[in-house]
Amino acid sequence: MSDTAPLRARAEIDLDALRSNVRTLRARASGAALMAVVKADAYGHGAVPCARAALEAGADWLGTATPQEALALRAAGLPGRIMCWLWTPGGPWREAIEADLDLGVGGMWALREAVGAAREAGQAARVQLKADTGLGRNGCQPADWPELVEEAVRAERAGLVRVTGLWSHFAAADEPGHPSIAGQLERFREMVAYAEERGVRPEVRHIANSPAVLTLPESHFDLVRTGIALYGISPSPELGTPADFGLRPVMTLSASVALVKHVPGGHGVSYGHHYVTPGDTTLGLVPLGYADGIPRHASGTAPVLVAGKWRTVAGRVAMDQFVVDLGGDEPAVGARAVLFGPGDGGEPTAEDWARAAGTIAYEIVTRIGTRVPRVHQHVKSERDG
Ligand SMILES: *Cc1c(COP(=O)(O)O)cnc(C)c1O
Repeated sequence: MSDTAPLRARAEIDLDALRSNVRTLRARASGAALMAVVKADAYGHGAVPCARAALEAGADWLGTATPQEALALRAAGLPGRIMCWLWTPGGPWREAIEADLDLGVGGMWALREAVGAAREAGQAARVQLKADTGLGRNGCQPADWPELVEEAVRAERAGLVRVTGLWSHFAAADEPGHPSIAGQLERFREMVAYAEERGVRPEVRHIANSPAVLTLPESHFDLVRTGIALYGISPSPELGTPADFGLRPVMTLSASVALVKHVPGGHGVSYGHHYVTPGDTTLGLVPLGYADGIPRHASGTAPVLVAGKWRTVAGRVAMDQFVVDLGGDEPAVGARAVLFGPGDGGEPTAEDWARAAGTIAYEIVTRIGTRVPRVHQHVKSERDG
C-alpha cells in the first residue's frame, strides 16, 4: 500500500523507532539475549514487518502466544529461534516441531502431546518448561514440577525432546517493590536448580517481561522477553514515560476528518445526546469507531489533535465514527486528526487514551482493528504532517 494514498485512517508504524527501541533494550539487558514478543500481530503493529525489523536491530529470539502466530512468522520466512507458549489440546504440535519452533510447555498434558508428535515427526521437540512461580495463570505449580521435569528428562534421554529452556512469568513486575517479585524470583531459582540437579541443561532461563527488563536487572538471567517496550510504550505510567527509558512510541493513529459543519448551541451530538453543544460551534467527524478498536469507554473524554489543537471526543464513540467539537474552528475537510502518536508533535499518546478509557496502553494499541491499514515506515523523514 502506498504511503501517499488518501486513506480514511491509518496506523503509521515507525520501524526506525522500533529498531532503536530494540537497541535500547538490548543495552539495558546486556548480559542476556533479547526476545522480541510479537504476539497479537505485534501488539497491533503488524507481526511480520515488526519481527523483521526487530531481528535487523539485533533481537535474538521471536516470541508469540499461539503456535499459529509462530507458524505464520516461519511461513513468512523469518529465521532463527521462535518460541510460542499458548497451547490447547491438539496442537498443532507436529507442524510446530517441523517448523523448528521452541514450545513452551506448562503441564503434563502438553508435554505428552509434544512427545507424541515428536515421535510421529521423527524429530526431537524443543521444549521449554514453564514454572508457575506465583502468577497463578499458565505454568506448572511447584508441587507438580518434579513430575514434569522427570517426564521431560525421560523423553530427552529417549531423543524425543530437547529441553531448551526453563522459564516463568511475573505477576506484578510493573509495581516495583511488590512483594510477589522477590518471592517469584526465589521460587524460580529453586525450580531451575531442581531441574538442573535432575539433569536438565537449558540453553536459556528466563522470566523478565518489559517492566522487569527496565527495572529489575536481577531478573534478566539468560534471556529477556520484551513486548510493550519494543513498541515504545512504558509498561506502566508509574514506572516512567517512554522517554525516561529512551524509548520511542512506534504507532501513530490518525484519520482524515470526514466532515466539518456549523451547528447551533444546544445541539445534541452522537447517540444518546451525551454531549450538547454549549453554543454556536463547529463539529468535526472523525471516521474511526469501536469497530476499529477505539474504546467506547473513551466517549466524552479522550483527546484528539486536530489542526494544532487538542479536542475531546464529543459524546459517544460509535461503531465507525465519532465527533469532536472544534469550537468554531474550520479546518478543511480531510484535515488530519491524530488520535495518538509519540507525543512530540503535540499529539496525545496511547497512554493519554488509556487514561481516558480506564485501561492500559497495551490494550489501546493492540485493539486497533484490521480495518485500519498499517503503514510501515522505515525512514522518519517519510512521515507526513
Ligand atoms: C506478552 C508476554 C510477554 C511480554 O510482556 P510485556 O509486558 O509486553 O513485555 C512476555 N512473556 C509472556 C509469557 C507473555 O505472554
